[in-house]
Amino acid sequence: MHYRYVVVGAGLAGLTVAERIASEKNEKVLVVEKRSHIGGNVYDSYNEDGILIHNYGPHIFHTNDKEVYEYLSKFTKWNDFWHRVLTQVDGNLIPMPITLETINQLYNLSLTPEEMKEFIDKLAVPMDEIKTSRDVALSKVGEEIYQKFFENYTKKQWGVDPAEIDTSVISRIPLRYNRDTRYFTDKYQGMPRHGYTKMCEAMIANPNIKILLNTDFEEIRNEITWDTLVYTGPADEYYGCKHGKLKYRSIDFVFETYDCESYQEAPVVNYPNDFDFTRITEFKKLTWQESKKTTILKEYPQAEGEPYYPFPTADCKAQYALYQAEMAQEKNVYFLGRLAEYRYYNMDAVVRSALNLYNEKLK
Ligand code: FAD
Ligand code: UDP
Repeated sequence: MHYRYVVVGAGLAGLTVAERIASEKNEKVLVVEKRSHIGGNVYDSYNEDGILIHNYGPHIFHTNDKEVYEYLSKFTKWNDFWHRVLTQVDGNLIPMPITLETINQLYNLSLTPEEMKEFIDKLAVPMDEIKTSRDVALSKVGEEIYQKFFENYTKKQWGVDPAEIDTSVISRIPLRYNRDTRYFTDKYQGMPRHGYTKMCEAMIANPNIKILLNTDFEEIRNEITWDTLVYTGPADEYYGCKHGKLKYRSIDFVFETYDCESYQEAPVVNYPNDFDFTRITEFKKLTWQESKKTTILKEYPQAEGEPYYPFPTADCKAQYALYQAEMAQEKNVYFLGRLAEYRYYNMDAVVRSALNLYNEKLK
């Protein structure tokens, strides 16, 4: 069977490209997805207790990219939502990222922003060169805060020391000398009013889009042909892992439901130094759903399993470059998204990348 356009993967990357091809070009497109649902990792669903959960971990949309925000706003309305995270340090729950509130609560002080700057400057370790995530944290906040907030969380999340990890990872977490305890400060922030799955359904509500669920591309690869292929699966799998298996970090998601209205003080509580899980999410505090019950999620990072995060080390990047060299030789095959581009993309960056691909190569 021949198709003009085939998209592998029905995550945000694949759906954005499919939507553009179907709506703007008015062309037919086949989307092949190995899971039983669309949405990729932003998929959400109602569990047996009627609570809306994010099946692959807490997803909060935030961006400064107006065009991406306006694009997704065609498919959903948003609940204004400012994400807040608490972290358990020395037995207390205090705001994360590190803000004036965090420092004052941690050290039982009442510093002003200027005093906090002086305080932190004294703790920060001067460095000539920032090479790793450990350097990022030490150079910003010093040894003690690094150990309490970052070192063990990062070891749990990635299974290696922060000194082995790219600077971009801990750089995701800002340091603020003010009382703004929001997790993100982007201009546009929100939760899709009826959930991510509904938003994704609206993206593909076009008869030009045909979705084949429960189908691994590898199973049909030799049975179909295409003019253009957009591949959003793991980069190594496309090439039969010929340069070795690429490392991705996985997570075991463990959900628990309780017979109470509220489980914890914040939508997400991080546990850098206790337990084997990294954080607990309470979904009702993200979605504002009302119920007598509440569902929480504990995330246990794993080396093996479904790939969720590209592994941010120099060795892995070098290995990925071998695949990139292969990709550069392809004609009419494009690699897109978190898994195929091997980049620690947020949702907005994935949509941006997909819109760019469409505008620059497919339009
Ligand atoms: P995916 O969503 O991974 O989609 C790829 C799809 O391809 C999957 O459905 C997969 O099943 C399918 N596929 C793979 N191989 C094949 C094959 N051979 N055949 C057929 N189908 C295949 N971003 C934010 O902006 N805010 C957040 O708060 C946030 N929280 C996150 C929390 C967690 C725990 C995780 C893991 C990610 C989070 N993200 C967040 C990132 C966000 O999930 C990603 O940026 C986005 O979902 C990536 O979209 P994608 O389409 O590139 O990849
Ligand atoms: N991090 C940390 N302590 C925390 C939160 C995050 O050390 O309390 C580090 C950790 O290395 C993590 C990275 O910062 O992988 C990025 O955190 P983010 O919350 O962005 O992770 P994500 O939501 O993408 O899993």
